[in-house]
This record gives sequence, C-alpha cells and structure tokens, in this order.
Amino acid sequence: MAEGDTILRAKQRLSGALVGQAITVSAPHPRGRAAGVERLDGLTLEGIDTHGKHLLFDFGGLVLHSHLGISGGWHVYDRRARWRRPRSSAWAVLGGERQEAVQFGGPTLRVLPASRVAIDPQLARLGPDILAPELDLDGTVAKFRATDQSRTLGDALLDQRLTAGIGNIFKSEACFAARVDPWRPLAGVADDELRAVLEAARAQMLDAVRLGDRHRFHVYKRRGPCSRCRGPVRHRGQGDANRTTWWCERCQV
Ligand SMILES: [Zn+2]
Repeated sequence: MAEGDTILRAKQRLSGALVGQAITVSAPHPRGRAAGVERLDGLTLEGIDTHGKHLLFDFGGLVLHSHLGISGGWHVYDRRARWRRPRSSAWAVLGGERQEAVQFGGPTLRVLPASRVAIDPQLARLGPDILAPELDLDGTVAKFRATDQSRTLGDALLDQRLTAGIGNIFKSEACFAARVDPWRPLAGVADDELRAVLEAARAQMLDAVRLGDRHRFHVYKRRGPCSRCRGPVRHRGQGDANRTTWWCERCQV
C-alpha cells in the first residue's frame, strides 16, 4: 500500500518529468479509456498536488485524480526505455518531451472538472494531510476526539477521514516511536500522547520522503527482538479491515 510518503516521492518524480509541458495522453487499457483520460491529450500539465494517498494532476480546467491502493503504481521512464510491465496493462500514459509516466492499476483513476475538486465527496471527506507543509495538529487531534472513542488507536490512525496519508507501516512505526500501545482505545489515549504519535508519523514519513528505500523501520515486519528493549515484537490484524499492526508489548504501554 502506497502511503503518503511514497505518494509525495511519486509527485516529485512525476513533476520533474512532466510539469510545464504539453502532455500526450493515451490509455492502452480499457479501464483508462473508461476513465476518460484521453480527454487530457494535448493539455499542459500545470502542477501536481497530493493529499494523503491521493495524487491530483492539474491540467487547467481538468484534473486527473489517482489513488494507487495496494496494487497500483506510477512508473517514470525515459522515452524508448523498456517498461517493467506490458503496454496493454497501462491505464494511462502521460508523455512529456523526454520522459513518460505510466499508471498501472489501483482503485481510482478518473478525470474531473477542476471546479469539482473542492466539493467532490471522495476528496472532501479526507482529514488533514499528515504531510501538509503546515499541519494543523490541534485540528487533527480534534478530529480524533470527534470519532468513536472506543476505537483502538491503531485502527483510527488508518482512517483517512481523521488524517490522510498514514498507512499500515507508519501506523505501527509512529506508535512505537511515541511508546504508545496501538491497542488502547482512543478514550485511554491522552491528547499529548495523540499529538506525539501524529508528530512521530509526520517526522518519520518526511524522513522516508528524503531517504526512500534507505529509510529503516523499527517494528514494521520486524523479525527478532525490539531494538529498544529486546522484548518480543508482536503482530496481529487490527480493526474492521484486519490490517496487521506490529508493536512491542514491553515498551509500548
Ligand atoms: Zn520494546
């Protein structure tokens, strides 16, 4: 699952390849044609925005909205380079002067009028972006306080309506960094603890944007003992979606 850091890195790569250029757009796979991406052909890509796990390509009056989910990806290739996946499986190909960006799979790819972005139901319900240039931490904590307080912390951190961008990796890593047990119900998590978890998620994700594959995890998919206390690192499915959480029982209380 692409989390906010991966999406921000994708934005940086895609922007460098395409922004400011008139883009040739094609849709080899029927899913891309159904999304109407060919309407963008010949338009200038004016910029790319992110909100949590969502990418928004600004083509002036039209916006291309992409969410990659677990299976989707954006690849950037030099023109004439060999792709890592078959051309026929590409939902969208955005061609710039020297490079092209190719989108494969994912739950969301669609074109919408720019005037609809602010009122679009899927986008408008998103909480504050954990990687926004200036995060409104008080407002984000207030969102967590307004939801059902019997929900566990680890489950609530994945709810994109409360804060957008955190996925399974940084849910686990942020709770570890702040030494808070992700199985505690929100009612038992103080505001300053919630703040510490959110700040840790933000700091670690910004670190991951900078370091990419060189960013190291502490509990996520860890085999072997806790790096802090040498206690056992456990993992178990959490929440309605049963998404796996990794945590140290001894130093997260
Ligand atoms: Zn530990």
